[in-house]
Amino acid sequence: MKRLLQRHLLAVTALTAVTLAGTVSGPLATTAHAAAPVAMKREASAGVDSRAKLVQEMVDSIYSFAEPGFQEFKTQEYITTILEQQGFTIEKGVAGIPSAWTATWTHGSGGPKIALGSDVDGLLGLSQVPGSPELKPQVEGAPGHGEGHNSGMPLIVAAALATKDVMQKHNISGTLMIWPGIAEELLATKAFFVREGLFDDVDACIFTHVGSNFSTGYGDGGGNGMVSVEYTFHGQTSHGASPWMGRSALDAVEIMNTAWNFRREHLYPTQRSHYVITQGGGQPNIVPDVASVWYYFREREFDSIRSLYETGNRISQAAALATDTTVESRILGYAAPQHGNRPMAEAAQLNMEAVGMPQWSDADRAFARAAQAANNRPIAPLATEVSPLRPPNTGASLGGGSDDIGDIMWKVPTITIRFPSNIPSMIGHHTTSAIAMATPIAHKGAVAGAKAVSMTVLDLLTTPKLVTDAKKYQQEVQFAEGSYDPVLTPETQPAIHLNTEVMERLRPKIEPFYYDPSKYASYLEQMGVAYPPAGS
Ligand SMILES: [Zn+2]
Repeated sequence: MKRLLQRHLLAVTALTAVTLAGTVSGPLATTAHAAAPVAMKREASAGVDSRAKLVQEMVDSIYSFAEPGFQEFKTQEYITTILEQQGFTIEKGVAGIPSAWTATWTHGSGGPKIALGSDVDGLLGLSQVPGSPELKPQVEGAPGHGEGHNSGMPLIVAAALATKDVMQKHNISGTLMIWPGIAEELLATKAFFVREGLFDDVDACIFTHVGSNFSTGYGDGGGNGMVSVEYTFHGQTSHGASPWMGRSALDAVEIMNTAWNFRREHLYPTQRSHYVITQGGGQPNIVPDVASVWYYFREREFDSIRSLYETGNRISQAAALATDTTVESRILGYAAPQHGNRPMAEAAQLNMEAVGMPQWSDADRAFARAAQAANNRPIAPLATEVSPLRPPNTGASLGGGSDDIGDIMWKVPTITIRFPSNIPSMIGHHTTSAIAMATPIAHKGAVAGAKAVSMTVLDLLTTPKLVTDAKKYQQEVQFAEGSYDPVLTPETQPAIHLNTEVMERLRPKIEPFYYDPSKYASYLEQMGVAYPPAGS
């Protein structure tokens, strides 16, 4: 660790001037690991800066589209049009998922193929007027970007376009493949991307995720993998006042949930499990013949995830037996546990430190404070330091959340870079996390993240040793800790039906609020929102 820190210090000295000033004062070759020339990184950084307006437009536009998982069609059309105009080859509907796509661009022959991705979906019911510190739905009941997934793809597009310019200018061979995290909030697509071969010829993957810090890490991150599964019980309907003639599917759902909640006490503390009843019958005087419950089963390791899932399956059968109903189940999603690639994370960390944090304005700070105060959240300042490289989780972990980037991590060497487009202290998967996501804070965080991604891609493209080191780490360290074992069967299909009805109903109400960059300098301006809010 000490050696790593020394490396960082050397590199930061060499690279600090890369980003904004346009001059490099330090020596060019003091980094301990193989890296792209500083002059190239300076060009990449300038290329991102020159696209800051495009980043703002993309962040604000995707925020305004407010599309939940599997319904990201407007986002698909918008981003693929931009990339097609820039010479990328677009393939839509990949892996049998209509809202999914890839955009690929190659220069020269040979060279590595680098995948660049970020999630694009929103969450149900989290519509929020942008830049309003108070919770205020833009469209009542509509989805919204209550996690900030509207900021990641703009970052990736800016990084890819800046990298493309440098590759052309310096005749660097390689392929860039941009891919969106579709339905990440449902943990529902990346395992299918892997199964359908999207990453078969990819050498390395950089994934980005919104946060309130600028951070990356390697090894086990301490979180959980997951199975998403819906159990549907079938009984027999009857008049509610002659219930002996019926068999209630809803009874089975309730017994399953009760049994699960007793069993919960005797599961490992690392597990997380939660459910919603998705069908419970029509009206009380009809015995429900169909009822469904949707579970997320989260655990730390491939075998414990599978075991938790099998426990759920047995309990569903017990509930069916108790009620003389039948049960069928459908897997709606899967996420492998995450494992970040060490050589890539170390390279990215140096670049992130060279880029540094965005320059927050007084307005940004006032806005963040106002949003925290208005929602009774702890007051915490916007981060001003890049986080240290996160080492692997060792010892006990309490488990936690999931991201299906884990599946890609077990296919190709992959890292996640978290970038500072949101404000601290907000509640995850909640409207408070949408408040800042179409403001200058979101725009600046995405610009900083794009620079770090572009520079790290250049490291991979120009120094073959980084790619071979990344693959070696995956083989020798990651694969020694586990092997990919998703619960998907060859018959499992992506759950592309999800959210269809809700968007058929709500899209017409959301469309009038789409951001129009030809008329307004920002989405805040279009919505008539003051920044920072008056009195803050
Ligand atoms: Zn996310």
